[in-house]
Amino acid sequence: MFRVSDGVPILDLRRQYREIREEIREAVERVFESQAFILGAEVRTFEEHVERYLEKGIAVGCASGTDALILALMALDIGPGDEVITTPYSFFATASCITRVGARPVFADIDPATYNIDLKDVAAKITPATKAFLPVHLFGQMVPLERIASLCREEGVTIIEDAAQAFGSWRRVDDKIVRAGVMGDVGCYSFFPTKNLGACGDAGMTVALDPTLGERLKKLRVHGAGTTYIHEEVGLNSRLDAVQAAVLDVKLRHLEEWNVERRMLADRYRMYFGMKKLEGTVTLPVELEGNHHIHHQYVIRAPRRDELMAYLEERGLSTRVYYPLSLHLQKCFAFLGYREGDFPESERLSREALALPIFGGLLPEEQERLVDAIGEFYGA
Ligand SMILES: *Cc1c(COP(=O)(O)O)cnc(C)c1O
Repeated sequence: MFRVSDGVPILDLRRQYREIREEIREAVERVFESQAFILGAEVRTFEEHVERYLEKGIAVGCASGTDALILALMALDIGPGDEVITTPYSFFATASCITRVGARPVFADIDPATYNIDLKDVAAKITPATKAFLPVHLFGQMVPLERIASLCREEGVTIIEDAAQAFGSWRRVDDKIVRAGVMGDVGCYSFFPTKNLGACGDAGMTVALDPTLGERLKKLRVHGAGTTYIHEEVGLNSRLDAVQAAVLDVKLRHLEEWNVERRMLADRYRMYFGMKKLEGTVTLPVELEGNHHIHHQYVIRAPRRDELMAYLEERGLSTRVYYPLSLHLQKCFAFLGYREGDFPESERLSREALALPIFGGLLPEEQERLVDAIGEFYGA
């Protein structure tokens, strides 16, 4: 067991595991008894449950969130000569998948309030070479895609959603609820263990709205083969394995309650920050009107961020920086020709963002200790 005096970890997956240990063991045992590890019934069952949960689309499991993005781009025939508009403020894979297929990432700056891509800047970046728009529902909050959907349709721009951090997040559009990943043309999910729906290793999924695209994705994940050993095109070896699918299927049953808990933890942070009168010093995450933010991460803006982080770390209080370097400034993307100052909001956030622990089983006293220590740092 952990003790409060041990400090506060940034993430402790064991607390959640303890709740579902028996269910997980049973599921894993079932796969081992069957000795069927590649695709098969376990994977199809999980895919069907995801389709039901999302209420639309064809779900196609694959080996990781990164592969999901690559497969989506491949299935849409995006490659050399094509431009894909995306955010410079995300995990690396968002942009690397674009260069991986030979296309060119074109960045648009972020909205400083939500940390998500700024749709006005996206509209300004569309050119005849733009093949796709790749928004990221960052930290568990959706981009209001309905505001740009018709422009994308007119310009022939496909929407590929990077929903790696937003499985289960939703947005109200015209009095209907739409989940992250099924608002555009194809959604990409990651089940990396730290994501809110996390596997026990690498795993991912694409969800295609168009059944033809869904079929193409199914072929591409098995070397492009429609029928075994008959190849119409060159794909990847990127399957969701049966053990991961069985574990994910158990966790999917608990996801709603876990996402409710995350929202509750976020409310509790807000309450403690309010009690300490720190809301004018740090900036707390905001929820855009109509959104159901699931707080995959709880990211605040903090002045003197690096000093604060070190101060907390000395006291056993773990925080993280997502993300310390904007993607347009990464060395491997230097060939794109971007420079410092090109995306001022993204660059500013990379200096101010600080992620606080938010995970199933995080205790109120742990949150309070963190906020108290932040208060001490700023002399509140
Ligand atoms: C985690 C993540 C990915 C990549 O997922 P993997 O499963 O780790 O390959 C892509 N995009 C974003 C925004 C992510 O957070």
